[in-house]
Amino acid sequence: MTPTYTEGRTCAHCGRTLALTAFARRKRGEEARQGWCRECINSTRRDAYARRKEAQS
Ligand SMILES: [Zn+2]
Repeated sequence: MTPTYTEGRTCAHCGRTLALTAFARRKRGEEARQGWCRECINSTRRDAYARRKEAQS
């Protein structure tokens, strides 16, 4: 049997279908990366942070 996730969403970045808890909530006034799971958002954040750090040194 395959469990059915009634509350699920497909990540627009990695294409995986994940539970809503895997998606960050939208903050007021913040440009939301709608449909991106936390993992994808985190990976791009880490990436940007690493790049900035590199550029400084
Ligand atoms: Zn994703």
